[in-house]
Amino acid sequence: MPSDTLNQFLNDNLNELKEQGLYNEIDVVEGANGPRIQIDGRDLVNLSSNNYLGLATDERLKEVAKDAVDSHGVGAGAVRTINGTLDLHVQLENKIAEFKGTEAAIAYQSGFNCNMAAISAVMDKNDAILSDALNHASIIDGCRLSKAKIIPFEHSDMDDLRQKAKEAKESGQYNKIMIITDGVFSMDGDVAKLPEIVEIAKEFDLITYVDDAHGSGVLGKGAGTVKHFGLQNEIDFQMGTLSKAIGVVGGYVAGKQNLIDWLKVRSRPFLFSTSLTPADVSATTKAIDLLMESTELQDRMWENGDYLKKGLKELGFDIGNSETPITPCIIGDEKTTQQFSKRLNEEGVYAKSIVFPTVPKGTGRVRNMPTAAHTKEMLDEALTIYEKVGKEMNII
Ligand code: PMP
Repeated sequence: MPSDTLNQFLNDNLNELKEQGLYNEIDVVEGANGPRIQIDGRDLVNLSSNNYLGLATDERLKEVAKDAVDSHGVGAGAVRTINGTLDLHVQLENKIAEFKGTEAAIAYQSGFNCNMAAISAVMDKNDAILSDALNHASIIDGCRLSKAKIIPFEHSDMDDLRQKAKEAKESGQYNKIMIITDGVFSMDGDVAKLPEIVEIAKEFDLITYVDDAHGSGVLGKGAGTVKHFGLQNEIDFQMGTLSKAIGVVGGYVAGKQNLIDWLKVRSRPFLFSTSLTPADVSATTKAIDLLMESTELQDRMWENGDYLKKGLKELGFDIGNSETPITPCIIGDEKTTQQFSKRLNEEGVYAKSIVFPTVPKGTGRVRNMPTAAHTKEMLDEALTIYEKVGKEMNII
């Protein structure tokens, strides 16, 4: 017999979300998530995936994934510390460390659980974490789980960070203090000011943690934001995902050997959740190999990003100040933003609206993620639709 209290709670809250227009209907992609996708039998130019380099459907990755299923099966069989550490996991971790320029690395089942795992393994209730106001939800949850005092600083505001770091240090209340930031912010495409962050960290002896989910594969010849600034020896935690530019699934931390040793004995998803599958790990290792061999895919992604940005700007859209291929099209009002995205979809472009509370009120945007897999024809098709819908709704 289901609980009446639960029923009431669920129905009341679901109805409220639906009345407010905040209930998210989930689209189902029929087939692979490539530069074009099929939804409800309709073919759309896909500008919403994080598959920056098109690797999610790359034939070379598919090939090694199939080989790994043949040689190692479909599951790892256990958590890493029992007997779920396959030779393939060790190869992947060595590859990540080489790619990131660190002594060692540890892989997790996802970027989300990596942040939950790594932050809470090192920080505790006697510590403080200075966290950029626009950090990703998984960072926020990792910080909460650690029970450390969370001190948000204004987005990329180095004066605010310095002031709060100074106050935290001088208060003498905390054993350890960490600065944590996204490397690339996914809503605006701006890059964290890592050289200044490192300077502040040095001044006050702070731990540094960079979540490079959107910078890896994109900046620093693919190795990420930290490499882009040449700071491999200055950042304590280089965290990233294997699910975006790398095209597969998983998360990791790269850093000093003692940090990785500690995470292997203290981070709970590593200790208590079954490890990545052989196919995932092999495909990921191959993706990193490809990134280390050539910048061809990154070059194409940047070219496509510049092309789309130029086109949207020329049409008269506000595309913000992105420093990466992430291209927001800022509309403002929440309802208009949602309507704009819906009309784009009806005309053949899949670009999702992002509104409050994910971004501040009045800054609703449709976010575009051009990738290496798009052709100029697909981008032109999208621009033509942007022009039509933009004019129809008096946005341009
Ligand atoms: N960090 C950031 C900045 C992200 O954007 C995301 C994904 N949305 C994650 C972590 C979580 O990564 P994953 O999807 O691999 O769990």
